[in-house]
Amino acid sequence: MTTLSYSPWQTGGLPLLNVAATCAATHALGPGLRAVVWVQGCPFNCPGCVAPAWLPMRQARVAAPEELVAELLAHLQVTGLTFSGGEPMLQAVGLARLITLARQQRPLSLICFSGFTLDQLRRKPPGPGAAALLDQTDVLIDGRYVANQNDQRGLRGSLNQQIHYLTDRLIGFDFATGPRQIEVQVGANEVLLVGVPPRGAVTLVEQALKRV
Ligand code: SF4
Repeated sequence: MTTLSYSPWQTGGLPLLNVAATCAATHALGPGLRAVVWVQGCPFNCPGCVAPAWLPMRQARVAAPEELVAELLAHLQVTGLTFSGGEPMLQAVGLARLITLARQQRPLSLICFSGFTLDQLRRKPPGPGAAALLDQTDVLIDGRYVANQNDQRGLRGSLNQQIHYLTDRLIGFDFATGPRQIEVQVGANEVLLVGVPPRGAVTLVEQALKRV
């Protein structure tokens, strides 16, 4: 089995990704039908984070970008990728490679979430590849989640987070105030809750799943 060191997120010069989960098709994380990669590991530990299992810096599914491309482009209607986590900018080398490869096959848009602010990423990148990933990102939603600033609207978790249109590709989509939606995707071995959940939604879904 391939092993990887966690900082930087690559081995032998080849970028590998440490993946918490993927989703081949969703309408809940940006405009159009999108495929999603959630990476494993985040240094911020924001109180109320919706994905606590994906915060530890542990090895999850290790995959080369080349391996993920076909999986993410399996649906012909997918028009964009969304990178979230975990902290995508700690795996920027691999994610930049992934979007480069995917765009060789389809003109995809890219939305990326990060707990780092755009200013931090530009002034003091947390690792290699951050500039390359920013260069490929159409919309960056940045900043840590602050629970008491959660206004229950839009694709950002809390009001302190900023939506940066780094290109004009997704201008017109309301990331800030549109209604939130979630999808519950049931696989053979896991249940995936996709989207930025409204308050209480995670508990409701967990209770419903227990009853099932
Ligand atoms: S930055 Fe995002 S993934 Fe990381 S702890 Fe905060 S809310 Fe969770």
